[in-house]
Amino acid sequence: MKDYRLVVRQFGGPELIESEPLVGGPVAAGQVRVRHRAIGVNFIDTYHRSGLYPFPLPAALGVEAAGIVEAAGEGVGGFLPGDRVGYVSATPRSYASWADLPADRLIRLPDTIDDRTAAAVLLKGLTVQTMIAGCARIEPEQSALVLAAAGGVGRMLVQWLSAIGVRVIAHAGSAEKAAIARGLGASEALHGPFETLAEAVRAANGGAGVDVVFDGVGAASWNASLDSLRPRGLMISFGNASGPVPPFIPLDLTKRGSLFLTRPKVHDYIDSRAELDAAAAALFAMIADGKLDVAIGLTLPLSDAAEAHRALEGRQTTGSIVLIP
Ligand code: NDP
Repeated sequence: MKDYRLVVRQFGGPELIESEPLVGGPVAAGQVRVRHRAIGVNFIDTYHRSGLYPFPLPAALGVEAAGIVEAAGEGVGGFLPGDRVGYVSATPRSYASWADLPADRLIRLPDTIDDRTAAAVLLKGLTVQTMIAGCARIEPEQSALVLAAAGGVGRMLVQWLSAIGVRVIAHAGSAEKAAIARGLGASEALHGPFETLAEAVRAANGGAGVDVVFDGVGAASWNASLDSLRPRGLMISFGNASGPVPPFIPLDLTKRGSLFLTRPKVHDYIDSRAELDAAAAALFAMIADGKLDVAIGLTLPLSDAAEAHRALEGRQTTGSIVLIP
């Protein structure tokens, strides 16, 4: 099959994803061409497709992949054709047979991490590592509420927090998903409506609110998450799976007990080469130590990306989704 990439020519639903030929010229100076072997699907891909996070049209999709170096542009040292690499990109490009990347953004893959695992874990795992180390600074014995706990990021959060001794209260959209979170180390796993979540969290936490909430659900869970915190607790709002959080007034934090709020983006925590290398090393160590089990819940051909989006937005998936070009 000829090389191709997926794009949208207008923002909207999964049915608007189209394929177009991908023709390669010479690789620009400082860039590396990566031939993809596995491509990670992330919820942010649906924001790029729908226009919630708009890029100029026609807009490419996908922010993560693993593969091999095919060619390097002028001035690139350290990467040779055949090297195994992965990447997370702030600009969509990975739903494609190959992509060109700045060499300084590539992550060299250890032999212990296969291509599919790399595509399943890089963006989600780096997000988890940077949120725990950079935003939450959470200590053993403290408590955390993790929403969408059987999902891509959620599954990794539950495992990582449990591994460092945090008491995790998980929430997921069904009893089956909650059972997955419990199996990953959560002390409690809830699955009721968001309207009664704060009450259920306090009941599960000895009557107190939790120290930190990790909320990638967004609009639907916003009030429940804030109400689940102890005074001076920390709200980490990192995504919009149910839609973006509507405007709010800072006094909402005051009246709930002087809460802290952060709205992180992983790229701000892996901006320098040193930060990227440190975060990737910490992530690969968690996998090598057997503390992070990366589950791929769905694998599809790249040409079926629309189906992957429908499943993800329909809350039908657990773990990561990988596309094979
Ligand atoms: P997930 O696999 O977690 O899928 C999203 C999950 O959100 C669903 O499975 C579902 O779990 C839950 N959800 C609750 N309400 C809805 C709704 N109305 N529609 C759809 N889903 C809903 O996706 P990812 O792991 O790819 O991403 C998780 C979150 O992390 C996303 O918000 C994403 O944007 C964010 N993210 C943020 C980053 C950052 O830098 N800030 C980087 C990477 C990801 P359930 O049914 O169990 O409730």
